[in-house]
Amino acid sequence: MYPLEDTIVAVSTPPGRGAIGIVRLSGPRAFELARRVFRPWAGSPPSRDVGTSEAPVPGPVRRVLLGTFVDPAGDEPIDTGFLVLFRGPRSFTGEDVAEFHLHGSPPVLQAVVDTLVRLGARPAQPGEFTYRAFVHGKVDLAQAEALNDLIQADTLWQARSALHHLRGHLSRTLQAWKEDLIELVARYEAAVDFGEAENMRFFEPGEAERRLDDLIRRVGDLLATYRQGRALREGLRVIIVGKPNAGKSSLFNALLREPRAIVTPLPGTTRDFITERLVVDGLAVELVDTAGVRPTSEVVERLGVERTLQQAASADLVLWVLDGSVPLDAEDDAVYEAVREKTFRAFRNKADRPTAWTPEAFAARYGACLAGSISCATGAGIADVMDAIRAAVRAVQQTWRDHAVVVTNARHEACLRRARKALQRARYGVQTQAPEPIVLEDLRAALRALDEVTGETDVEDILGRIFAQFCIGK
Ligand code: GDP
Repeated sequence: MYPLEDTIVAVSTPPGRGAIGIVRLSGPRAFELARRVFRPWAGSPPSRDVGTSEAPVPGPVRRVLLGTFVDPAGDEPIDTGFLVLFRGPRSFTGEDVAEFHLHGSPPVLQAVVDTLVRLGARPAQPGEFTYRAFVHGKVDLAQAEALNDLIQADTLWQARSALHHLRGHLSRTLQAWKEDLIELVARYEAAVDFGEAENMRFFEPGEAERRLDDLIRRVGDLLATYRQGRALREGLRVIIVGKPNAGKSSLFNALLREPRAIVTPLPGTTRDFITERLVVDGLAVELVDTAGVRPTSEVVERLGVERTLQQAASADLVLWVLDGSVPLDAEDDAVYEAVREKTFRAFRNKADRPTAWTPEAFAARYGACLAGSISCATGAGIADVMDAIRAAVRAVQQTWRDHAVVVTNARHEACLRRARKALQRARYGVQTQAPEPIVLEDLRAALRALDEVTGETDVEDILGRIFAQFCIGK
């Protein structure tokens, strides 16, 4: 995808001013270029002690030198700081890496990059350092994605789950399954090659079925964590529904003012819905107000209901707001129909006004309990709504605590689903005594799907998509 032979350079700290700015250089010429632009101060060990990967000298593989960065054309000093050297393969990229830790001044950092480019380095593309780490086997694809998730995290829980994957927990789990699968494949291959001729048995009766059942169960258990795992990575989706004028927007705004919810500076407005991101107990929560859907004609009404249905389908929690000051009617029934299959909490709003119906009437009509009475006007009961959100947040956090590995990424989930389908086909093949090559084909398909998670298969197009999401310098 990206060339690997040259030496790449980029500013690795965020744009703007700061106490420190880091320029990273990676590739076969990293140490040579670093020697040409960096003059260690007296007392610092001379940088030539580090050698190059072609001619390494004994000594530490990582080293820090204090000195001056100079433009060798004219020997002009640019800044003072540290040069940190990592000799490959014991570096982030697996290659020789030189980092210049200088003052975080944009013109200084740009001059350092320009100097190194003039000497033969190439400006790095987005994610190119991580791509090299992937190619050199320092991280697998799932870990590279986790690294990006960690950098992009808005909440501590997002960072925590990303770090878990970065440390290879998912990869190791899949590795164990793949080893089981490879053994099955090997035995089936042997059965194809020698079975009939030599009249040999490669499985005890029922053994292949047992092993496949076990794998299918384990993949299924991991897949089952995705519903909560997605909320860890992308945020818990909480959608507010209710008939027009029930008080959806009022509740939306009241929740944003709740002191226990921190609003992140990333408001999103989809075409039809207003969304805000909150942080509740360290977890990202995407709060969706469907009030934008105001029926003005029958067609629009139908579309609006359909969109609300779609939103509700992807929600982790539905907050249903009812107007307690007017009788329950067909519009409430329509909302109920849209959310009845989901986890919903119903709140009777406008408690500051005389009530037109009782919780018992609600229960009789919908066969569900009212979660509480609230008033967006006075703020009464809003804390109870927040508690309903907190309970959903706690459920996600509990899933994380209860499982050694949680699937958080939609791409991984899709691969795992494919793996499970292929395993189920193989299981059916074994059960119906299908010819071995057919079973083998399904086993290999399952293996390929698991390999795709960690990037051990031919995934050039996936690589392009994933590394393009990174920022430059990563
Ligand atoms: P939506 O259409 O469901 O989003 O409803 P809005 O939030 O726009 O509210 C509809 C109307 O009800 C507005 O005039 C609000 O001021 C009013 N309203 C909302 N909540 C309350 C409440 O708790 N008490 C009273 N008295 N009025 C409310």
